[in-house]
Amino acid sequence: MAFNPDFSSTLSLLFAAAVLAQWLLRAWLASRQVRHVARHRAEVPEAFAQRISLAAHQKAADYTLAKARIALIEMTLGAVVLLAWTLLGGLDALNQWLLELMGAGLWQQLALLAGFALISGLVELPLSLYQTFVLEQRFGFNQMTLRLWLTDAIKSTAMGTAIGLPLAALILWLMGSAGDLWWLWAWAVWTAFNLLLMWIFPTFIAPLFNKFEPLAEGTLKERVSALMQRCGFTAKGLFVMDGSRRSAHANAYFTGFGHSKRVVFFDTLLKQLDADEVEAVLAHELGHFKHRHILKRMLLMFAASLAGFALLGWLSQQLWFYLGLGVRPGLDLALGHGGIGAGNEAVALLLFLLAVPVFSFFVTPLFSALSRRDEFEADAYAMQQASGAHLASALLKLYEDNASTLTPDPWYVGFYYSHPPALARLARMPSPT
Ligand SMILES: [Zn+2]
Repeated sequence: MAFNPDFSSTLSLLFAAAVLAQWLLRAWLASRQVRHVARHRAEVPEAFAQRISLAAHQKAADYTLAKARIALIEMTLGAVVLLAWTLLGGLDALNQWLLELMGAGLWQQLALLAGFALISGLVELPLSLYQTFVLEQRFGFNQMTLRLWLTDAIKSTAMGTAIGLPLAALILWLMGSAGDLWWLWAWAVWTAFNLLLMWIFPTFIAPLFNKFEPLAEGTLKERVSALMQRCGFTAKGLFVMDGSRRSAHANAYFTGFGHSKRVVFFDTLLKQLDADEVEAVLAHELGHFKHRHILKRMLLMFAASLAGFALLGWLSQQLWFYLGLGVRPGLDLALGHGGIGAGNEAVALLLFLLAVPVFSFFVTPLFSALSRRDEFEADAYAMQQASGAHLASALLKLYEDNASTLTPDPWYVGFYYSHPPALARLARMPSPT
């Protein structure tokens, strides 16, 4: 291994330090948020005093605090599980066990991916159940029955297997057989797959989980159609989705592209807002479209995944990458083939997916800031195309109905918030109606 300088202990150290730093940073931010929200719990902020009741304000505070406590458990569990998979040898043990059971080959590698996904899913299960059936339930947001939860879980597992397994097999095969530039091919497959998914999602996948009804004829439909015409936006359809089957949280979104593009309103949104407000919210969404935020984000994602695949292409050839993250690669396999990667593709893929988020976490504030800038642009567009006062009152209603806190900690906002806090957005709008 003369060409492979041993960075493995350096990587182990760096990785452990990054996991710890991430945990500390997240815990510090969460504690800031908790203190800030608790300190402002007693009184509705002056700017909202006329519109939001003390009871609603305190519900939002309690909901935020309860979520922060869960997040603390979640991040701690996440860090422990991550170290268990890597430095403590979990992935290595699973890999060795499957090698003994099945021998080396593509099937063993697919079994490793599936086993990893299964164990990760089971580990996350209790917290996810707690979130839906205890936390969301307590604040009156959960609408799901255990039965619906189960059918959802079965459907998404089946869907994930039907789509994910062939894709994984193709990528593993490319890694092993497409030569030095396999990562470029794998990236092309990945990108094409994502585009295909965006295309088929609204018409084939989303209807498996929800009912979509065309928006009923009437004032609202006329208003919405006129707005879209004014903004030069053509969509194939306007739909109402039965979001209330699962949650009382409200939303609206665009989906698909090209001819399959459609606008989807949650039924919960239409229940909470009047026609003027729905129009203003849609104008905000059209603002994202007009400013090409969605396209830009997609291009950014494709560029980032190209860099990611290139990095993986290089790392998978470095012995220290495996050893430093707690896995013994099958070297006897490597001797017959092109390099260390051979026969270790699934391990390389999993280690990469485990390690990268630990480091990329630290650029979160950059993406949050870019996203908040986009939100301001969409708000500005909405105020040109619809009524700013109605946008303001829609926002206030949504904040109240979703129990979103009006008094977040500024550092917490700076790091995580994809949307500017209510006060900052409303400051740029006329008074709500
Ligand atoms: Zn937006």
